[in-house]
Amino acid sequence: MTVARKPRLLTGDRPTGPLHLGHLVGTLQNRVALQDSHECFLIVADLHSLTTRSKREQILELPGRVRSMVLDLLSVGIDPARSTIYLQSGVPAVYDLAILLQMLTPVARLSKIDTIKDMARSAGLAESEVPMGLLGYPVLQAADILMANAELVPVGGDNEIHVQVAQELAQHFNEAYGPVFAVPQPTISSTPSLPGVNTIPDGSAHKMSKSLGNTINLEDSSEEVARKLRTLPGPAPGEPGRPPLFAFSEAFLPAEADDLRRDYDRGVIGFAAVQDRIITAIDAVLAPFRERRAAFARDRGRVEEILVDGTITARKVAYETLGRVREAMGLEPLWAGLVQATQARAEARKRPVYPGREH
Ligand code: ATP
Ligand code: MG
Repeated sequence: MTVARKPRLLTGDRPTGPLHLGHLVGTLQNRVALQDSHECFLIVADLHSLTTRSKREQILELPGRVRSMVLDLLSVGIDPARSTIYLQSGVPAVYDLAILLQMLTPVARLSKIDTIKDMARSAGLAESEVPMGLLGYPVLQAADILMANAELVPVGGDNEIHVQVAQELAQHFNEAYGPVFAVPQPTISSTPSLPGVNTIPDGSAHKMSKSLGNTINLEDSSEEVARKLRTLPGPAPGEPGRPPLFAFSEAFLPAEADDLRRDYDRGVIGFAAVQDRIITAIDAVLAPFRERRAAFARDRGRVEEILVDGTITARKVAYETLGRVREAMGLEPLWAGLVQATQARAEARKRPVYPGREH
């Protein structure tokens, strides 16, 4: 009897800094909610971090950042018994698949993607400095997703376009070489792009982003949360539009957000009181995360063990998929044919050189 497997989910983050509230509402909450219904693969995308941070000193920071990212994931309720957390660079088969997928990706498709330009800007890279790896970011991401044969990819809004590239590549590959890949679907949360805070000039005009420094981090203390949230400017009561502060009430006080805005516009409640309500709501969400994080951090070697176990699982899945890809593309038969011919020649050599005079 074959047991039908649960649908697979894959998503992840670059270890470029601590996970923040944008991650929480943009993708982490979805990941936690889907852990029972899906076989979950969560990638710590260290190769992707090299697209904008490839200097030696930046690479030397990776061990600390990777550990901290796994702690962030565990703190929000990712359960290592149900989800596979793995290190991207520990799965070399993904490099092989990425190269094969590059052959199927028109450069014109990638150069139209605005998020790549945004990432280059955030990383302070001039157009002439953009590495090929950054242009190919969505192809490597497609390799991660397709390698796991993931059906579902919970991502923030800025990442949806990358999942579309993975969809196109899966369809193209299946049509050209035979049905190998599941065609992945993105899941976008109800808060696809939480704005940042003004810990940098104009931080709230951009999405909250680790590389910009406009974040409220999951590991921040209550005091830091309050200090950072209070950097957000208040709109004049009744001012139209959707000021950043109210994006936070929609995300963290969804049931009260409309009333809060109305009361503020009518002058029933002041700006500082709105900030206080939001700070209290965020702090209530973060308090259990801080405890869970501290418990995992105290358990020496546990984080590393989770990552190694997960990476071993991911390697098995990856090599299995890569084998099917090579077979479908004719690369495996090419190699097998060469090996067979060599074996046949070796066999032939074992035969006596002068038949009948072997003694
Ligand atoms: P970086 O500045 O290094 O690009 P980031 O903060 O944008 O970091 P990523 O690692 O690029 O974070 O994103 C991980 C996932 O979190 C992606 O699915 C992304 O869409 C989502 N995400 C990131 N920031 C936000 C945000 N502010 N609101 C909603 N989702 C977000
Ligand atoms: Mg990003």
